Amino acid sequence: MGAWGVRLAAVRVAALAVLCLGLAPSPGTAPSWAAAPGRQAASRDDGLVLAASGAHGAAPQVRLVEPGPQHAPIGSTIRLAFSRRMAMGSVLRSFSIEPPVEGTLEWPDDRTLVFHPAAPLAYRSTYRVTAGGFAAVAGGLPALATLTFATVWPPPVLAFPFTLTFDDCGTPEQIQAILSALADRSLHAIFFPTGLCRDQLPWLVPTLLAAGHRVCNHTYSHPDLSKLSSAAIRSEIERGVSVDCDLFRPPYGAMDRGGRVAAVAASLGYRIQLWDVDTRDWAGTPADVMVAMIRARGGVVLMHMHGAHTVEAIRTL
Ligand SMILES: [Zn+2]
Repeated sequence: MGAWGVRLAAVRVAALAVLCLGLAPSPGTAPSWAAAPGRQAASRDDGLVLAASGAHGAAPQVRLVEPGPQHAPIGSTIRLAFSRRMAMGSVLRSFSIEPPVEGTLEWPDDRTLVFHPAAPLAYRSTYRVTAGGFAAVAGGLPALATLTFATVWPPPVLAFPFTLTFDDCGTPEQIQAILSALADRSLHAIFFPTGLCRDQLPWLVPTLLAAGHRVCNHTYSHPDLSKLSSAAIRSEIERGVSVDCDLFRPPYGAMDRGGRVAAVAASLGYRIQLWDVDTRDWAGTPADVMVAMIRARGGVVLMHMHGAHTVEAIRTL
């Protein structure tokens, strides 16, 4: 088997040693294929392809197939895909990752480069992967791209198991920030949006489900059910949101003495789900206070999609 066989298994690289060898423009020199300065500046931070273009034909494009740009698990493998068949040696020489990571490079086919880190990546870090090279067919321009991704945060350190729950609704920005924080901590939660929230934000339920969260019933319009007729209670629950979930959380935790709320919910197949920790995040409880409450007890934690410091609490856990 030749040194550059079709399939190259486990070439060990010290990432720094091959940093941009032969491909990265060095100060003071201006290779003819260098990208226009304006395009280069715009491309780097976006993780977009940085490729030369010109009269000699389009350069190959390279993209990061995995991990995704955010919330990358620390056990991630890094997989790059080229738009054209590449000359393997030129691609291997160009590969680098910053901060430096020890690992092995694999070249499963002539359009795919895979880097297997020897150890888990660091938590809460942004990595920059630089890769390029020449197409297998000679005469073309080289590809060169710097692609970035960020890893998840360390998992919460807690004495007791806990489940975060998020009620009601929020602005799209608030909800996306909660989802991003949960993804960064690798946490799954139970959401209790109102039916009104689902109507106002049609993307919400599919987004929550796609992220692996549960979606359970919190009525349609968030009334105090203890003050409603049994028929009105039934209507509110029936028009609520629920996806394969038998949990029902009455607004304000309000249930009448006669047990009508619980009875109607049960008749519709629901169990009442209240909480163990009430963060009162809606009232502006500081993040560190919420974290202390959760750490002290664990259990089911009541939060909201509209809490002032809710995202900070998730990230501080
Ligand atoms: Zn509520």
